[in-house]
Amino acid sequence: MHKNTKLIDAGRAKKYTGYAVNPHLVRASTIVFDTFSELKQATLQRGNRVPFYGRRGTDTHFALQEAICELEGGAGCALYPCGAAAVSGALLAFLQSGDHLLMVDSVYEPTRALCDKLLKGLGIETTYYDPQIGAGIATLLRPNTKAIFLESPGSLSLEIQDIPAICDIARQYNIVTILDNTWASPILCQPFAMGVDISIQAATKYIVGHSDVMLGTASANEQHWPRLREHSYLMGYCASADDAYTALRGLRTLAVRLQQHQQSALTVANWLQQRPEVETVLHPALPTHPGHAIFRRDFSGSNGLFSFVLKQGSQQQVEAFIEGMAHFKMGFSWGGFESLITATMQLQKLRTASRWPYSGPLLRLHIGLEHVDDLLADLTAAFERLNQTK
Ligand SMILES: *Cc1c(COP(=O)(O)O)cnc(C)c1O
Repeated sequence: MHKNTKLIDAGRAKKYTGYAVNPHLVRASTIVFDTFSELKQATLQRGNRVPFYGRRGTDTHFALQEAICELEGGAGCALYPCGAAAVSGALLAFLQSGDHLLMVDSVYEPTRALCDKLLKGLGIETTYYDPQIGAGIATLLRPNTKAIFLESPGSLSLEIQDIPAICDIARQYNIVTILDNTWASPILCQPFAMGVDISIQAATKYIVGHSDVMLGTASANEQHWPRLREHSYLMGYCASADDAYTALRGLRTLAVRLQQHQQSALTVANWLQQRPEVETVLHPALPTHPGHAIFRRDFSGSNGLFSFVLKQGSQQQVEAFIEGMAHFKMGFSWGGFESLITATMQLQKLRTASRWPYSGPLLRLHIGLEHVDDLLADLTAAFERLNQTK
């Protein structure tokens, strides 16, 4: 079945939809039982896709969990109040005091802060590794290495990791692999087929797709699902039924939205490559990207998020560029229908295990669903402002 068709069918079992098209929106804390034996039965199953207690989810949550599993290929899916909670939830489910974690150097900045602050305080040591390390990850393993965390493409700098090579090594040593798969959404790559044990989505981004809900998911393969599930329950992680419902609605249009994000982003990326002010465009679908071959092997497409590096640019010039945009709003998150821009003056400051080869400022774009000609006009005007600023 094509991914686009799966997006329409996923999580829409009759038991969740009844006579409607969409799964029921069921808000609940208490679940009430008719008989003692039903209550006992539900207790034994502990909410494994049967209603037991609100924190374990209702049919709305089960429908979303099933949909994500159908799309990503996991055995089970836990829901979290946001993507950052899915990251912390997955890490804390498999790490304890005295353990060692290998973390990709190009990881989403708040994940890095989690390692350096919270995990460190719990006695979990983090070693950062070069996103291009591939099978070379073997040289960093220690007897107490319990988890390898991946994110590909890398946050801001979009390095492509050799996910299957790293997962191969991890499997030999019984080390759990956790992938932040947010960039790919549930449809641009197959994390479990690549050997990943846990796949995380900040559903806040493309799944919800409208910049109005915070939500996270972590899916696990058969081997790791019981521990992830129980741990996330013990930690009290849960999400509202309304947010799960909104995420399900977002899934239905994910493929057509992504197609437009992808097409417009490639148009903008190619246009930027011709600009004299631009040092390089960091977009893995461009043949000039160093990770392009692996990207073509592992991903079926791209989205609206990429970065570019200016040859040079003072703080004032970058300000002139990103202020006064008509369509690109200045702000974090991404994956909604709108275009966004952020700037990072010195990326090297955010890296400890890899050398960043560029000295100019980095601008990250999220290409939204506006007409691409309007976005190009916005960027043309931004370059004019930059060039008029000293
Ligand atoms: C946004 C993001 C997160 C965090 O998600 P929130 O829902 O904002 O907490 C985690 N990882 C990546 C790659 C992200 O882009």
